[in-house]
Amino acid sequence: MKFIRNKLILFAFLALLFQGCEEPIREDPFVGIGASRWDVGKSANFLLSDDRFTALELEIVYMEGFKPTSFMVSEMRDFLQELTLKPEGIRVTEREIPAEGEEFYTTDKIAELENRYRESYNDGNTVSVFLLVVDGFFMQNEEEYFTIGAAYRNTSMVLFGKRIAENSGGFRKPGRGNLEATVALHELGHLLGLVNIGTEMVTPHEDTDQDREFHCDNADCLMYWAVETSNVLNFMQNSVPELDENCRNDLRANGGR
Ligand SMILES: [Zn+2]
Ligand SMILES: [Zn+2]
Repeated sequence: MKFIRNKLILFAFLALLFQGCEEPIREDPFVGIGASRWDVGKSANFLLSDDRFTALELEIVYMEGFKPTSFMVSEMRDFLQELTLKPEGIRVTEREIPAEGEEFYTTDKIAELENRYRESYNDGNTVSVFLLVVDGFFMQNEEEYFTIGAAYRNTSMVLFGKRIAENSGGFRKPGRGNLEATVALHELGHLLGLVNIGTEMVTPHEDTDQDREFHCDNADCLMYWAVETSNVLNFMQNSVPELDENCRNDLRANGGR
């Protein structure tokens, strides 16, 4: 008799446990697709520090015929390794997708392509960055210069492959790897919150020209406004520009290395 009663108590206990499990599980707002739809700079601290995410995955998706140079890929990896705190490592994946064959890409179209092709989202301890390389130009080009790349969401960036191809290699033009890597690192810098877009400035150094907001005021810095536009061609050296002290200090203060 005593044994049966104990058993009953056990059942009751188990029933309580299962009831506990039926409570709705609160969704983690920092993982999954939802966490990839924020504005540029909003994930800066997640990308820089190891507070929430200890590993980083960079997913590169390129249209047929626009495979990035291995130089660009290794520069991006080195850049992230140098600036972010990811003790569990940085992983890079590359994948080809069919060419869309469009001349111009709008931001809506770019977002739609990301929805279709992006596979890696923040998951567990891993924060994810998406880079899309398209086979055309950007629709919203300014009159006096054109855009080579853009950061368009908190963990998303795009490179306009055709612009890179037509402006690199050959006489008096920068090497393709150099141009591609320079623009890719500049856009990564925006995702890391530079300048004053998600990562606070230690010392004020944002360009005061209203058309150049979120850029560094130092013309020698990677985060100078001209770097992502055709203007970069006028001052490109034989190497990728580096972040200046002001930009470096901002990243450190926001949890980076
Ligand atoms: Zn920029
Ligand atoms: Zn700077």
